[in-house]
Amino acid sequence: MLLPKPIRNLIDSFSRLPGIGPKTASRLTFYLLNAPENLSLDLADALQSLKSGTAYCQTCFNITDAGRENCEICTSEERDAKILCVVEDPLDVVALERTGGYQGRYHVLQGVLSPIEGISPEDLKIAELLERVRSGEVREIILATNPSLEGDATAMYLQQRLKPLDVIVTRLARGLPVGGDLEYADQNTLLRALAGRQEMD
Ligand SMILES: [Zn+2]
Repeated sequence: MLLPKPIRNLIDSFSRLPGIGPKTASRLTFYLLNAPENLSLDLADALQSLKSGTAYCQTCFNITDAGRENCEICTSEERDAKILCVVEDPLDVVALERTGGYQGRYHVLQGVLSPIEGISPEDLKIAELLERVRSGEVREIILATNPSLEGDATAMYLQQRLKPLDVIVTRLARGLPVGGDLEYADQNTLLRALAGRQEMD
């Protein structure tokens, strides 16, 4: 091996990330090597506190600060506990919060159903969602999974599971780009999809 071990190590680590091939991994490594030292130190700091500084909200499973049992949205009196917006991941919460047009609370599934990737209902926070609905307060569930094959299939599955429970189930209106991702939708499109949500039957 021509390269010193620390360099090979970092290239290997970068290569294990999604979307980063060996070429990009090498480029990033040499960029850091030649950049001012505080860049790598800040990066190392951020990586170190990524896991230790965060936790999942035990109610909605959104990401929150370590040490908190429940996130800010779940504990806020100003948020309507009667409406739950069900999303795939925390970035979808960020996208919907950015619109400023939603006052309810959330439930983060932490993924979507995907037979190909072997992701079944037990791998998602579905049992927890049903439990939240059964415990009373919720009146409406907005299924805001992405308008993709998996997102639609997950919404259909959830609708079937929610049917026996006394709750209105709606789906975000069409108009979001099909196959697209909530987190990349612009705010107006997202607001329109939210306002135009329709009851599933
Ligand atoms: Zn929460």
